[in-house]
Amino acid sequence: MDPSANTKNEQPLHVEIDDKSGFCFGVVRAISKAEEEIGSNGTIYSLGDIVHNDLEVGRLSKKGMQTIDHKDLEKMKEGTVFFRAHGEPPESYQKIRKNGLKLIDATCPVVLKLQQKVRAAYEEMKEKNGQIAIYGKIGHAEVKGLSGQTNHEAIILEKEEDVRLLDPNKPVVLFSQTTKSPEVFKLIAEAIKRRALGDVEVKINDTICRQVSNRTPHLQEFARKHEVVIFVGGAKSSNARSLYQACFAINPQTHFINSPDDLQPLWFASGPKSTGVCGATSTPVWLMEKVAEKIRTF
Ligand code: SF4
Repeated sequence: MDPSANTKNEQPLHVEIDDKSGFCFGVVRAISKAEEEIGSNGTIYSLGDIVHNDLEVGRLSKKGMQTIDHKDLEKMKEGTVFFRAHGEPPESYQKIRKNGLKLIDATCPVVLKLQQKVRAAYEEMKEKNGQIAIYGKIGHAEVKGLSGQTNHEAIILEKEEDVRLLDPNKPVVLFSQTTKSPEVFKLIAEAIKRRALGDVEVKINDTICRQVSNRTPHLQEFARKHEVVIFVGGAKSSNARSLYQACFAINPQTHFINSPDDLQPLWFASGPKSTGVCGATSTPVWLMEKVAEKIRTF
């Protein structure tokens, strides 16, 4: 056996963790608020998962955070409820007041400002018999919070073809969920303008969070640089899905995983010269580090 070849085979794989991946500032802020409150007052009840990442939710639940849903909130008569960065519709605030509960509101300031803009536009459109359109995912917590500002009358557009749901004779104001794709937003905005009849008013508000949109070109550059790319994200995170797709478009050797257990040695069988590990705004850095550690053992 050639000893030099053997030494070469034993070299650990070169793995780089993307230094711009990981929690956005809204999620960092929410998690530190939660940890602070648990530290001083004990158990808190998060309305929905604090972040779309089961492993981070598990870490916080060991400390004293319990996740509840809206039905649980209905029945709660005491305790501290936590609103996560996605925000909540007005009904949730009413329930807190009605049931005499304590509230820790960690709605991201960017989302809070967007909710106020949607509400103001709704009031204006009511006067003009107009429509509010939101580009977002139906059923997503942030979208529910935004739609709540319009008495849930907003029309949710998930894709360009959905613009047919809008009445071309009526004024329209368009917003976006903060974590959606800027490219699709542009297509939707153009389609709305094209369909509008006569001089009907169309207002376009690009409300995609720059914490997210700036990541797409950066991640694509990262994906181009590495032979194999491991994208770490939660199955429920829409941001993770869209960023993964952006990486995959550049590098088809991109694999989506939730945890180190999902890694498959086969992906590294050819001994790639470099492997990149990256993630979404809901991916904890500690998890990407664990993934990199495991890859180095292959
Ligand atoms: S993605 Fe932007 S808007 Fe959403 S929580 Fe993070 S910082 Fe806030």
